[in-house]
Amino acid sequence: MNKKIYDIAIIGGGPAGIFAAYYARMRKLNVALIESLPKLGGQPETLYAQKEIFDIAALPKVSGADLATSLIDQLHLLGCDEYLDTSVTDLKLDDGVWNISTSKESIVSKSIVIAIGNGAFKPRKLTFDYDPLLEENNLSYFVNNIEDFRNKDVAIAGGGDSAVDWAIHLNSVARSTSLIHRRNKYRAMESSVSDLNESNVEQLNPYIIKNVNFNQDDHDKINVTLKMIKSDEIKTITIDKLLVNYGFVSDSKILHDWNLDLEGPFIKVDREMETNLPNVFAIGDIITYPGKLQLIATAFAEGPIAVTKALRNMYPERDYFEHSTSLFKQ
Ligand SMILES: Cc1cc2nc3c(=O)[nH]c(=O)nc-3n(C[C@H](O)[C@H](O)[C@H](O)COP(=O)(O)OP(=O)(O)OC[C@H]3O[C@@H](n4cnc5c(N)ncnc54)[C@H](O)[C@@H]3O)c2cc1C
Repeated sequence: MNKKIYDIAIIGGGPAGIFAAYYARMRKLNVALIESLPKLGGQPETLYAQKEIFDIAALPKVSGADLATSLIDQLHLLGCDEYLDTSVTDLKLDDGVWNISTSKESIVSKSIVIAIGNGAFKPRKLTFDYDPLLEENNLSYFVNNIEDFRNKDVAIAGGGDSAVDWAIHLNSVARSTSLIHRRNKYRAMESSVSDLNESNVEQLNPYIIKNVNFNQDDHDKINVTLKMIKSDEIKTITIDKLLVNYGFVSDSKILHDWNLDLEGPFIKVDREMETNLPNVFAIGDIITYPGKLQLIATAFAEGPIAVTKALRNMYPERDYFEHSTSLFKQ
């Protein structure tokens, strides 16, 4: 079976990658967008969903989550092939096209735009062994759909912005909500902590989670065993769902194996976002050039530059530039 050959495969579904994918679709290219997490959005969605951003042009303020949603909505106007929950592991040039190995299937593309930000994010998981079946229904590291928590007894583990925000948010739909944190103080915005203190979320601190098991009498429920810090006190709570929010770890070590010219942890690009590899471009937080700023505004500009150069390399006869106002006919 012949494999589909994309014009551009974009690695990383953060602001840089999503907007580059949309722009490439606007220029009528075949696009694959590959993201290691189950959800698009990158840092604004994953690391600071509830925080407000004030330096996106024409948006006086927008939360990380709302920015991600708008970018995804814009991309879906034109659509592209999205490979979610798929991590790119290797790139090989084979007969003039790039063979992209991933944690799932391999993808073939004429050109590549690397937009991996700080590297592949992975949730920081519970450090003890537990039955993997728990992750089917009862234990999660992300909220995919808030409705999954409606009328459930829920506990959130963690003490940062995301854990505190989710505790407040899920409390609006859950039957009961607890927040488990190993310290008495949270690492979250003051306003979020005061919202938490005014809510009826039960605050279980300072406790660490020692164990999570299915409840023997009711397999839909789980027992979470907690140990109080600096004490022998052990306590078990029986709940429906545990959301662990211990933050994310990122890994950009993989770049060393891809033979890219690097400066420290960053990919060196020229003024058209080209790397040292043929038809491989890079944009967003992962790149460096004189004057580079790690801002969303900058990443938004780098996408169209990279896509336009890729298009010129692939289709020299299409070496013209058009405004979107001319590309879309009303
Ligand atoms: C707390 C905080 C506040 C911030 N506030 C602002 C602000 O106010 N204004 C501003 O402009 N910027 C702000 N930033 C910075 C901004 O979020 C980044 O500049 C922006 O997210 C960079 O976008 P990106 O697409 O390059 O990378 P990212 O957002 O990091 O997205 C990269 C994506 O690539 C995926 N990925 C990585 N490796 C792989 C792989 N091997 N295979 C597949 N997928 C992969 C990752 O999972 C991730 O989703 C803030 C950052 C933080 C942490």
